[in-house]
Amino acid sequence: MSESNQQVGRQMHDLVTRLFPIHRSLTGDGVRETLSILGEHLPGLNVHEVPSGTKCFDWEIPREWRVNEAYIVDPSGNKLCDISKNNLHLVGYSIPVDDTFSLEELRPHLHSLPEQPDAIPYMTSYYRDYWGFCISDSEMQRLKPGDYRVVIDSELFDGSLTYGELFIPGETEQEVFVSTYICHPSMANDELSGPVVATFAAAWVQAVDRRLSYRFVFVPETIGAIAFLSNCHQELKRNVVAGFNLSCIGDDGAYSMVESRKGNSLADEVARHVLRHTDANFKQYSFLHRGSDERQYCSPGIDLPLVTLSRSKFGEYPEYHTSLDDLNLVTESGLAGGLDVLIKCFQCLESNQRFRLNVPCEPQLGKRGLYPNLSVRGNGETVRDLTNLISYCDGTETLLQIASRLDRPVWSFFDSIEKLRDHNLLEQVTDQPFQNTSHD
Ligand code: ZN
Repeated sequence: MSESNQQVGRQMHDLVTRLFPIHRSLTGDGVRETLSILGEHLPGLNVHEVPSGTKCFDWEIPREWRVNEAYIVDPSGNKLCDISKNNLHLVGYSIPVDDTFSLEELRPHLHSLPEQPDAIPYMTSYYRDYWGFCISDSEMQRLKPGDYRVVIDSELFDGSLTYGELFIPGETEQEVFVSTYICHPSMANDELSGPVVATFAAAWVQAVDRRLSYRFVFVPETIGAIAFLSNCHQELKRNVVAGFNLSCIGDDGAYSMVESRKGNSLADEVARHVLRHTDANFKQYSFLHRGSDERQYCSPGIDLPLVTLSRSKFGEYPEYHTSLDDLNLVTESGLAGGLDVLIKCFQCLESNQRFRLNVPCEPQLGKRGLYPNLSVRGNGETVRDLTNLISYCDGTETLLQIASRLDRPVWSFFDSIEKLRDHNLLEQVTDQPFQNTSHD
């Protein structure tokens, strides 16, 4: 990692660390606190509250959940599964309980992972009234028969669901859409890597000259994405040229992507290109392996050109949805790498225009200082890249298509494009800058 990448990686990891202890769920103050911290980095972040009971397409916003304390007291008087020690201990959306149970009665409400005896699993019960605790299997095995007191001081009430949205206007209404989720309690890769990469990417966008507009949203997974879409799906359908859902993008594993439903959108093309030229081991999953908010964004009635970007994909790494998904699994280099690929996707899209050579035959590069004075071995490749680029600038293919044809990363041509335009050798073809790849 370069020094500046290292510094950014450290800042990102610090932000993950700060957000880690907050007890988030689908709704509630954990989400609000998370958004307020992200808002410190994102001036203009709009926080929306959608009241419980609001109809959103086929769904309804659930009641808000609040929990003050939750624990179990064993027959010897020891406190177990105390959420003030680890908030994964309580099944999300547990209803209130204050009662005593035998071990046999308690057991069906205890959840562990025998194959990972030291991990506390992550579980929720958003849409069915239930209470339960998650416990490491090693602790579970030590429980003795006797009376257990269960205390869950929780409330379910008509409140609201909260999500954040930041719109950064560009020269055109065509927009790049980035979504990530903010509803998991203390786990680092799934999910804090997504919000933190999105936050730093938004800060990057705000600081650069841009042609496109950008929209970043931070939603509780599934119902939050549905609530957001029910507010503005028509606008998104009109303007989004490429979208990226971020999930599990902060560890050191190989990069991966989940394709859009049909796998042929501009977002697919861009993500494939960036990952292919970043990581020889990158993995491409079809939409059949979906699991995050791409399920909503790519559903038939919405059908946005969107892919999910990950490093170790959700469900594919052993620490997933357990207490082992912690601040050690997510690294400075992992986060910095996640940010780097997302920014490269943005650069691909910003530069994805068509150019036409202004002169018949090859231009004379030497008199413009664009050709090496002496042919020295080693110059060949640079010259060949430049002349190959020129050869395909006939106004019919986008820079991304040309780069793919030449099997070179698109960013390796940015400098040449700028020089050729400075020398008036290339003109931009302005009709339909985005030949938005059709889904059919
Ligand atoms: Zn998850």
